[in-house]
Amino acid sequence: MIDPDRVSAELVRACEDAGLEPAAFVVFVVDAPWPLGTTPMAYLQPAGHVWPDTVVVFRAVGAVRAGRHHLAAHRLAVWNDLPGVPAAALGPMLRHELEHARRWELSGSRFFEADDFLRAALRRAGGHGYATLPTELEANAASAAFAARTLAAAELDAVRSSPECEALLSGHEAPADVVEATLAQLAGRDDWGTGMTGAERAAYVDGVRAACAAWEAPEDGMLTAGRTGPAIERVPLGG
Ligand SMILES: [Zn+2]
Repeated sequence: MIDPDRVSAELVRACEDAGLEPAAFVVFVVDAPWPLGTTPMAYLQPAGHVWPDTVVVFRAVGAVRAGRHHLAAHRLAVWNDLPGVPAAALGPMLRHELEHARRWELSGSRFFEADDFLRAALRRAGGHGYATLPTELEANAASAAFAARTLAAAELDAVRSSPECEALLSGHEAPADVVEATLAQLAGRDDWGTGMTGAERAAYVDGVRAACAAWEAPEDGMLTAGRTGPAIERVPLGG
């Protein structure tokens, strides 16, 4: 079972590492065991919504509950029971998701929309290449560096030996420009599932590139879930 105090403490530590404000985060702990084959923990950017094709853990949180923090917080969701995940993995898992939050602060909501198009296309194509998504490489590089600094050798071994967690330590180098690398991957595919023409897709990518360049990071205090630290919300089963 996930201990809310421990989630809170680990999140504060990971925020310190990522240069993010802990009070800007809400963590939904879904009171259910982790369903096989789904994501154990996920991030939803402040401007994001829960849709029918959103990751299962956020669908379990629900559009209404997640929506209460729309444009007000970085949102994380995790199952209450993570069989097979070593306790030492919690910090690196959080640090991975925080790197996505840091990317939102750097590049903005439009970038996440484009990244979602790319993720959805990969999912429909069978899920191959997920680990080589620029934003995943970036998040895993951050979690690997964080784990190397904060975990003992035996804890690193435990995380590495879990098939679900080993990518957190893979530490492949992230592309120097994650936005450009993402847009290049997206522009190189025609399976967005949107019905857009090639010219429309090219114009879309140019629009996202311009929006990222014009994005201004949120000011201090703009995102607030908790008063002095992260807010932890338990999500009851069926609720
Ligand atoms: Zn990720």
